[in-house]
Amino acid sequence: MGLGLFKKKEEKIQSESKFMTGWMERDEPQRNANPHLYRIVYSRKHCIGGDICTFVDPVHFNLSKKDGKADFLNSQKQEDGTFVMTVEDPTMNDIGNPLRRAADSCPAGVIRVVRVKDGRLVAGH
Ligand code: SF4
Repeated sequence: MGLGLFKKKEEKIQSESKFMTGWMERDEPQRNANPHLYRIVYSRKHCIGGDICTFVDPVHFNLSKKDGKADFLNSQKQEDGTFVMTVEDPTMNDIGNPLRRAADSCPAGVIRVVRVKDGRLVAGH
């Protein structure tokens, strides 16, 4: 492996671990929160395309014609470049829930669903 390629790989790993760190910091449990409140975080810059999320959850995800990445509809862009949406959804524990399916089926692992009350990762990887 050439030095340039090695450096690129190292940068990618560092950037991904920053995403993880940001995730952990942002999602401190809020013990008094509604048990059906979930935070969905999407790291668009790490999206590799492929269209799975838009297929399983077209209400929340749409593939951009500009760059082939998914747009997370009606989410809020954060300073770190991630897109976040907080939803109250009693069906999130159901494996058929579209948002949950999108997170679980994303091959890049860039969609995550966390329960606000205890910070538990409900879907995504
Ligand atoms: S499934 Fe994941 S990698 Fe594929 S388009 Fe959606 S967010 Fe991007």
